[in-house]
Amino acid sequence: MQTVTILGATGSIGVNTIDVINRHPDKFRVFALTGHRQIDKLIALAEVTNPRYVVVSDEDAFAKAKQVLSKSNCKAELLVGNEALNDVCRAAEVDTVMSAIVGAAGLLPTMAAVKAGKTVLLANKESLVMSGEIFIDAVNEFGASLLPIDSEHNAIFQCLPRDYQYGKVAEHGISKILLTGSGGPFIGLNAEELSEVTPEQACAHPNWDMGQKISVDSASMMNKGLEFIEAKWLFGLKEKDIEVVLHPQSTIHSMVQYLDGSVIAQMGNPDMRTPIAYGLSYPKRISSGVEPLDFSTLKDFTFSQPTKEKYPNLYLCIEACKQGQSATTRLNAANEVAVDAFLRKEITFTDIAKVNQTVLETIPCSKMTSIQQILEHDALARASANTVIRALS
Ligand code: NAD
Ligand code: MG
Repeated sequence: MQTVTILGATGSIGVNTIDVINRHPDKFRVFALTGHRQIDKLIALAEVTNPRYVVVSDEDAFAKAKQVLSKSNCKAELLVGNEALNDVCRAAEVDTVMSAIVGAAGLLPTMAAVKAGKTVLLANKESLVMSGEIFIDAVNEFGASLLPIDSEHNAIFQCLPRDYQYGKVAEHGISKILLTGSGGPFIGLNAEELSEVTPEQACAHPNWDMGQKISVDSASMMNKGLEFIEAKWLFGLKEKDIEVVLHPQSTIHSMVQYLDGSVIAQMGNPDMRTPIAYGLSYPKRISSGVEPLDFSTLKDFTFSQPTKEKYPNLYLCIEACKQGQSATTRLNAANEVAVDAFLRKEITFTDIAKVNQTVLETIPCSKMTSIQQILEHDALARASANTVIRALS
């Protein structure tokens, strides 16, 4: 029996995790579910998973949560606030933490799980983008197990040799990590058309059903840029080891190319329950509810290169990755603020990259050796992004 805490249970990844867990009541027990503001959804999920704790991170939502919980069949204890998120990650009973809060808010509870030596299923890519080396050092220092849930990184993980040693790319005969991306819903639009797209259009991804922030990031390919940085830290890669390939059908979820000419790809229907199930059951396999891939229905199977003109955010991420930890922290922070402003219709879709570039270029790089410094740099970048947004809108 594996005991699991799900951070961000009310989100797209959280709900898919519960779906997989509910298929295997003999293998998994839920210790805690966390949510921020969607109280009715959180308590409804608690009713079907029977956790020991339900955590509401937004303190303003506590009164409502108390009331909804008291009227439900759920016997869970209600906890509130950010410190409670950390507590349900490091509790002795917990084996595994699904890190599926969106954005920088996921950093501290994920680090709490790492420092408690848990098995961490990482969906929250932003925490690794922000804290990179410090995060990986903590995984090693505290003996945590880190398994990638992001579909591309889960695919790479499946295509690497089982005995892969961190950073030993050449020693394993690997020539390239091919990170695939669909190109999002606007792949056919030109620059002028892009400036007029709405949040509703950006959130309607052709292949994946995801939360709002990652949907906008997928449309701008910021998501692929964050994943570039994520891949670097997860597998100990250099920028030259990673190549981004556009593959609009999202059937291949990423590939590893070897020196002998072999390319190993991981394929499947675009459904996050596959990487979630693999993370939960690793190194075994369990059923996930995902339909098997039917090759007879796959019409197109195409690949191309993403250009800088069309996808500036991807290239800003690659540039930040080269500059180092503070650059990736402030780019991530700027992007969170810019995406939020786009969703509130304060700036246009193409303004997101302008905000990101300005913040990346105006704040100087500095050496980051602690989570505290990272959070300070994140706050500085958010303030700068807000200034840029006020000037634009
Ligand atoms: P979502 O928006 O659907 O859900 C986000 C979750 O985070 C919710 O449970 C919400 O309550 C919680 N949350 C939001 N703000 C919070 C805060 N300030 N404090 C605490 N909790 C907060 O997002 P999602 O699509 O499920 O994505 C979650 C993470 O997984 C993101 O980092 C995303 O990049 C990553 N991811 C998602 C997918 C996907 O298919 N959805 C795929 C790969 C990676
Ligand atoms: Mg992904």
